[in-house]
Amino acid sequence: MRAFFLSVVASVFACESAPLPQAPASSPVERARTLLQAQSELPPRAELAALAQGVAIEALKEGNPEEQARLYRTAAELRLRSYRALHVEADAHEALTLLADAARAQKGKESACENERLRAKVLGELHHDAQLTWREIHQAKVRAEPLAQAGESACVRGLTSDLELLSAFRLSGEALAEATRLARRNEPSAPATVVPTGSVVQLPAPAPSADLVVSPSALKLSDEPVKVTKIDTYPAEGGGRVVVHLSGPTTFQAGALAKDASNSKDARIYVDIDRAKVKGVKREIEVGGAIKRVRVGPRDKGARIVLDLAESLSRKVYYLPEPFRIVIDATNSAAAAGSAAASPGTLKRVAIDPGHGGHDSGAVGPTGLTEKEVALDVARRAASLLSSELNLETILTRDDDVFVPLEERTARANAFHADLFVSIHCNASENGDARGIEVFVLDHDRDMNRANSRIAALENGVRSKSLDGALDAEMASIASRLRSGEIGASSRRLGLLLEKSALASLGSRYADINDHGLKSAGFYVLMGAEMPAVLFETSFISNPEDEARLAKADYRQNLADAVVNAIRAYREGK
Ligand SMILES: [Zn+2]
Repeated sequence: MRAFFLSVVASVFACESAPLPQAPASSPVERARTLLQAQSELPPRAELAALAQGVAIEALKEGNPEEQARLYRTAAELRLRSYRALHVEADAHEALTLLADAARAQKGKESACENERLRAKVLGELHHDAQLTWREIHQAKVRAEPLAQAGESACVRGLTSDLELLSAFRLSGEALAEATRLARRNEPSAPATVVPTGSVVQLPAPAPSADLVVSPSALKLSDEPVKVTKIDTYPAEGGGRVVVHLSGPTTFQAGALAKDASNSKDARIYVDIDRAKVKGVKREIEVGGAIKRVRVGPRDKGARIVLDLAESLSRKVYYLPEPFRIVIDATNSAAAAGSAAASPGTLKRVAIDPGHGGHDSGAVGPTGLTEKEVALDVARRAASLLSSELNLETILTRDDDVFVPLEERTARANAFHADLFVSIHCNASENGDARGIEVFVLDHDRDMNRANSRIAALENGVRSKSLDGALDAEMASIASRLRSGEIGASSRRLGLLLEKSALASLGSRYADINDHGLKSAGFYVLMGAEMPAVLFETSFISNPEDEARLAKADYRQNLADAVVNAIRAYREGK
């Protein structure tokens, strides 16, 4: 089956020889294009990876969507060349992400269709699954319907013939209908905002992407009432967070009311929680900052949580499972619309988040070294360098061996008005063989990579064994909707720079540093960050050699250097 896939993919490559514009001499882009044009021998993988990263960074900075798509495509082709030569799966995953980026840059255009087409084939090849290839190509064709209606499209013709070639693997019935429906739904959907009906107050129109309300539809809900067990509040200037803890999952709706001068009522955000009981919960909690207070009361067959605001704020209301809690983020619209990514020169504050702590040790190495200990030490070293070398203000989300809930970590960073958020962790694999570094940004996992979901589940503290269920899909959708726009792109740029600087910092002393690439997955700890955010898996503590290195001060210092160098490069606009 593998040979068949290779031939399909090779034929796609063969018919792509669009002339490419010339880049300045010796730029990563020019080197990449020279390398791809000449059938010359490939440089070592680390060099190829660094080159692909360089091109991807250029793509992120490119303002012209057509050129941006071309740059992403070039970076993807480099990764694919590397994958085909060396069969390191991380290269294929990186290529998939880059092809998705290329398609997004020119959404609706012929080139997007071609990039989706190649992506479908690489995905099927990677998973050795012809039915997956058929489904992905079918979905690409559904998304290309406007292109087909507009007239002649070589890509749509190509997709049609691909589907014929693979007709033995075609989906039918419910599976086909589902795949088609999902492809259609892939359009940017309007935020699921609930505006109170019958309200006498006309709401001022919020910025279109500022509000987000995602109530669970994937979780199993019972008819039994649930209890509000605790309400945590995190005040901040210009915003704030309220977390409502419940004894079990339930649905909710949210809305807002503008300030009403006639009866001196503040602007409010309210969340109606179905089937929730509030017995024994404090009815009024003073908060401070932009959220004056939280009021709690019964309503209909549930509970109503009201946030009294000092100013009108946008709301993002979503949930985290296990234990079930509703996160209510109130932000002023600049931050909520994703326009708050600091321009590189104005970078002032950085939040460093040492993973785990207290009763949560994180992963534990074969000799007993704990992730929480390594993460805190690397974070402290990085914070100290950021302050002394880059003159930046820093905050550690924990500076001791204490447990800090995931939602509190970004709340602290948001309140600090951090411009960047870097979460420090150690990786773990089931068999202990895996080694090397890995950097994550928050997004839905576009590559359906089970390994990414597994790592995310570990870091999220989710106990459930099923990693591929409807819950995963829903959390992924929340993740991608929270990370759209400029902050998403800036997170990717920071991630690429961190990967590159980690390879440079460690690679100069250790020849065998394995680079797993920049990936995306649904990490809860990154979800509520109002600034570009990455999660750094420094090394595999589950591997004896990596664990021995992680135990050493100089290795930890190298990891801290990597964080600092990445932030320096980010500030310099690289
Ligand atoms: Zn961790």
